Amino acid sequence: GTTMESDVCSHVRVVVRVRPTTEREKTENCRSVVQVVDNHMLIFDPKEEDASCFGSQRVRNKNINKRANKDLKFVFDQVFGEESTQDDLFEGTTKAVLDGVMNGFNCTVFAYGATGAGKTHTMLGAQNDPGVMYRTMTELFKRMEDAKEEKEFTVAFSYFEVYNEQIRDLLANIGPLAVREDSSKGVVVQGLTLHKPKSAAHILEALDSGNRNRTQHPTDMNANSSRSHAVFQIYLRQQDKTASLNPNACVAKLSLIDLAGSERASATNAKAARLREGANINKSLLALGNVINALADPKNKKTHIPYRDSKLTRLLKDSLGGNCRTVMIANVSPSSKSYDDTHNTLKYANRAKEI
Ligand code: ADP
Ligand code: MG
Repeated sequence: GTTMESDVCSHVRVVVRVRPTTEREKTENCRSVVQVVDNHMLIFDPKEEDASCFGSQRVRNKNINKRANKDLKFVFDQVFGEESTQDDLFEGTTKAVLDGVMNGFNCTVFAYGATGAGKTHTMLGAQNDPGVMYRTMTELFKRMEDAKEEKEFTVAFSYFEVYNEQIRDLLANIGPLAVREDSSKGVVVQGLTLHKPKSAAHILEALDSGNRNRTQHPTDMNANSSRSHAVFQIYLRQQDKTASLNPNACVAKLSLIDLAGSERASATNAKAARLREGANINKSLLALGNVINALADPKNKKTHIPYRDSKLTRLLKDSLGGNCRTVMIANVSPSSKSYDDTHNTLKYANRAKEI
């Protein structure tokens, strides 16, 4: 490829997914504040004449309808509208990332957004409509099968959470676990259990039971709000069968991450403990934004990338930047009820892609 293609910045892909309006939002007379223009562009808080309003009676001066009409245009690598399917998401995000993994590069896909914006739906999905994590594994199995004459593969996975800057194994329910850097293996979580996938169904089961181990605390805003970052990692080792002498083994790591809710701690009316937790979550999300921003900026390339600023970025030090491919899926709700969250998520995503 050209020099541009080998640039770090070309490896960060930022997409936005707008989830459908829920029944509750429909009955609460919210308006839509996100208008998807095409595959690349959306308008946040469109002018009223352009807005696709729903709800029959509009209530004037009602706070949730916040008619600011900012009319902000955002352009991303891809925009997925309300009608997008789980398969559209997989095809448009992680599928291409698997090429990188098969070529031995560490890759990272993460879902960012406020609680309720659709992160878990995108990454984990529902039992009858699995998300990116499951589809990635299914595709990986297919690719290993296709290449089995030439290569010998070993695959393993782990699933853990980062909660309050501490790591817990979701498949063994143990923690906190320490992170260290190994000169040959890269970043290692000490004591983390590795599992051999027996089948796609086995992975789905493991993810589902792991998810039940995620730390969740009721807050005033959302009883099921998830305050932890859930990290699903797949390790792929491959060795050339045809090379007669000293066949090179290479190991690649794919991280699929369901981030904690990005809403501000202040908005949750939380008490001291929850506030501390919120501060830590924001610390990791802020650090992640700073790392991605530094990587995406060509002027910054030779300068310091602030991986050490949070647990999450320390964990991803060998999986962001360099030859690593990164996809950020920014999840948003279209409802005026989530006006500030959606605006903040779009700004965060926009900053991540800026060069
Ligand atoms: P988050 O993990 O960001 O807090 P969820 O993934 O739990 O949000 O989504 C909130 C709710 O919206 C859930 O009930 C989920 O099933 C639903 N939902 C989210 N995205 C979609 C989608 N693309 N299609 C249908 N339902 C969705
Ligand atoms: Mg969730």
